[in-house]
Amino acid sequence: MNVPFNDFQAQVAALRPHIEAAVARVLDRAIFILGPEVEAFERSFAEYLSVEHAIGVANGTDAIQLALTALDIGPGDEVICPALTAAPTALAVLAAGATPVFADIDPETLTLDPARLQECLTPRTKAILPVHLYGQPADIPAITNFANEHRLAVVEDCAQAHGAQINGHKVGTLGPVGCFSFYPTKNVGAFGDGGMVVTNNRAVATRVRSLRDLGQQGRFNHVLPGLNSRLDEVQAAILQVKLAHLDEHNAARRERAAWYAELLGDLPGLRLPSERPGFTSVYHLYVIRVLQREANGSARRDSLRNHLRGLGIGSDVHYPLPLHRQPVFAGLPTASGGLGVSEAAAQEILSLPMYPQLTREQVEAVAGAIRAWPGH
Ligand SMILES: *Cc1c(COP(=O)(O)O)cnc(C)c1O
Repeated sequence: MNVPFNDFQAQVAALRPHIEAAVARVLDRAIFILGPEVEAFERSFAEYLSVEHAIGVANGTDAIQLALTALDIGPGDEVICPALTAAPTALAVLAAGATPVFADIDPETLTLDPARLQECLTPRTKAILPVHLYGQPADIPAITNFANEHRLAVVEDCAQAHGAQINGHKVGTLGPVGCFSFYPTKNVGAFGDGGMVVTNNRAVATRVRSLRDLGQQGRFNHVLPGLNSRLDEVQAAILQVKLAHLDEHNAARRERAAWYAELLGDLPGLRLPSERPGFTSVYHLYVIRVLQREANGSARRDSLRNHLRGLGIGSDVHYPLPLHRQPVFAGLPTASGGLGVSEAAAQEILSLPMYPQLTREQVEAVAGAIRAWPGH
């Protein structure tokens, strides 16, 4: 059985009449930028998270950049972020003019390790940028404790974690500011690009609102060095439809994660994702780790990936290189204790198919193919 890594056609088919009606509404009104659809979606998203302010922007990378700028973080400042994340996390720090400092990750959860923050601290440190990687909340309570002790801001990268929770509170609302992406693969995906900054701080919200629209405060009055980073009306209308299904889709992802755990949990050579008490993942990705090594020390992950590919089963690696190994970030400061956990994880991780439309039969096919691989 062929199991694609993602299935956008199934996703579109499930919602097509609603999406077409939403797009038609925008065409009928013929307002395309910063109109009623963006306003309505900002309100819905803020309500969903129980947060005061939500500001639609062009994408998740800009959301992080604008949040940092709104907090007055820029040239000369350092921002601690995990070494294992999507490149835009740290590219946004560069775009804000600040310097990303890579910290190592927790070997269990693969999110920023609060115990590894101290070694990254310098007099220039201004903020911590934890990432709720793969939909799993980072340890915000411990990170916030550290941040408060050292008077640092916490900017949450929630691009992979719409609806994830810590003790009943949705991520993005746990620190001063949260940043979301609506890239098509995300748990709430546009049919194009989109992003959102959320905050309970009115001053930060006002600054982001101005920064996303050319730094204007009122028409043709430019008070900040802003960007053109606006969410557009068509995407906002589509996202409104998508948001209405988020809880149902997240529940479906969690059900599929439970199926994988049921079908693969007994294999000693694999480590499956797990949740800490009080932390609710939304399984943006389902990432297993292949613990066995080849004779030369490299992980057997690539062998499993090839085996799955041969059987028509899609998989991917998020991410093959920790960011300090990426050419663009070479030469940046890193944790004095090294980034060994990130480096080992990058060799072991394998993302399996995970989306709400995935059927039980497809999950069984993936699990069967993994069980048939001789290497675990
Ligand atoms: C997708 C993603 C981003 C960037 O979002 P874009 O909308 O693609 O700009 C940032 N951080 C993480 C962790 C992501 O997965």
